[in-house]
Amino acid sequence: MRAAIFEEAGRPLNVVTVEDPRPAPDQVVIEVAHCGICGSDLHVTQHGLVPAGTILGHEFAGTIVEIGREVGGDWRVGDRVTALPIQACRSCEPCAIGLPGLCSSVLFTGTTLETPGAYAQYVRARRTMLQRLPAGVSFAEGALVEPLAVAHHAVGLAGELSGASVLVIGAGPIGVGVALFARLAGARHVVVSEPAHGRRQTALGMGATHAIDPAAGPVARSFATLAGRQPGVVFECVGNPGMLQHAIELAGVRGRVLVAGVCLEEDRIRPLTALGKEVSLQFSQCYTERDFSSVIDAIAHGRADATPMLTRIVGFDELPSAFEALRQPGEQCKLLIDPH
Ligand SMILES: [Zn+2]
Ligand SMILES: [Zn+2]
Repeated sequence: MRAAIFEEAGRPLNVVTVEDPRPAPDQVVIEVAHCGICGSDLHVTQHGLVPAGTILGHEFAGTIVEIGREVGGDWRVGDRVTALPIQACRSCEPCAIGLPGLCSSVLFTGTTLETPGAYAQYVRARRTMLQRLPAGVSFAEGALVEPLAVAHHAVGLAGELSGASVLVIGAGPIGVGVALFARLAGARHVVVSEPAHGRRQTALGMGATHAIDPAAGPVARSFATLAGRQPGVVFECVGNPGMLQHAIELAGVRGRVLVAGVCLEEDRIRPLTALGKEVSLQFSQCYTERDFSSVIDAIAHGRADATPMLTRIVGFDELPSAFEALRQPGEQCKLLIDPH
């Protein structure tokens, strides 16, 4: 099959031919229809955090083409699916309580040589991680389920949002997904702060009530003008140093800060800022199977329209250059690969 391989930091992905994957007894092989490009893919390749030869890609949807002998159940060749890109141990404490994303020895699809990802024509997934796509959910939407599940999980951790005034910092795929599910959860104001014009438009298309440019004036003042009060919940969806403190400063009294941005560097906060308002800080990581099925259900029943976040589809020929171009800040939200 054709696949895009990471070779070393600073070099574009290389599209090569590799051996077709075969399923382990508890796995299926999926023919990839679409795979999303994730900000984390850009980050790990920039810093060389994955081994040479890694096939990236953990946001995929496609058709089952081969089934391992122990899979059983009612899975058939031809079934349309997506899957949680998680290989969990199934015996540690988090696994036992249904949080495979927090497994102490988790391996993510598309980050190791043992668990190749879906920047390829075929990808393997464990039976227990499969999620069926109903007829009304396209493969493109199916490939958006993983990033949307990240957003859905963060919104779920925020507690009661009915009538709430919510600030979302960052309108990348996670931020716009948070806007979508915060509105569905009944938030009255969902204000997204984002410097890129195109991404602000995407946020509005996904359900944000307002989108503001943080370069145009203090976010706190813009928010107060729009919502008439300070944010009850702030979602941090950027993941750069300084954003935690920024989010704490913006939260109102007894406000909640939900951290969905992935910051891989050390960061500082001023505890006094949070103390003086009794702000609570909650981190959000991955998702559960329930987040996946809820997202699919919301799309299938027309409650959620994810398509505004999809800004471009590229084939293998364009992939290496399109991938490098994403390293510069821009208007794009989610790019999908079509590996055929
Ligand atoms: Zn991702
Ligand atoms: Zn585990």
